[in-house]
Amino acid sequence: MSEFMSSVQNVFFAHGWRITAGVQNVVSVLEKTERPLSSTEICTQLEESGRPIDLTTVYRILDRLVAIHLIHSLRGKFFRCAEPENKTDSHHFLICDNCGKAEEIFLDYFKSIEQQLHREKQFGLREVEMSFCGLCSECRKN
Ligand SMILES: [Zn+2]
Ligand SMILES: [Zn+2]
Repeated sequence: MSEFMSSVQNVFFAHGWRITAGVQNVVSVLEKTERPLSSTEICTQLEESGRPIDLTTVYRILDRLVAIHLIHSLRGKFFRCAEPENKTDSHHFLICDNCGKAEEIFLDYFKSIEQQLHREKQFGLREVEMSFCGLCSECRKN
């Protein structure tokens, strides 16, 4: 079993949630993909590989995986988390404009932004959502 699947199993078990065939299938798509996928794309991939699933079920599974921080939601698409055990707010993604590949990076700036916003705007920061768009190293070669 993959590391990703066993993390899913552990957390689902801890919550008393069942690992259905649907969960296994959605997880198997997310662990292989190098590009963030929409719920519809996940549905289509499963249908094409002979494992049909309805979109509502995919939504429900994705909601759970996001809630337990094993996948990230990025601009309406979904991608597995590279370091679920990293509980900081420093998870961010480099997303390639050309091939759509995503790479997770960990940037530790939250404290400084929080302090600056508190000082200058008296704003209490909860989270920062940030994506970095550009070209990945492979696409820059071509
Ligand atoms: Zn992450
Ligand atoms: Zn690329």
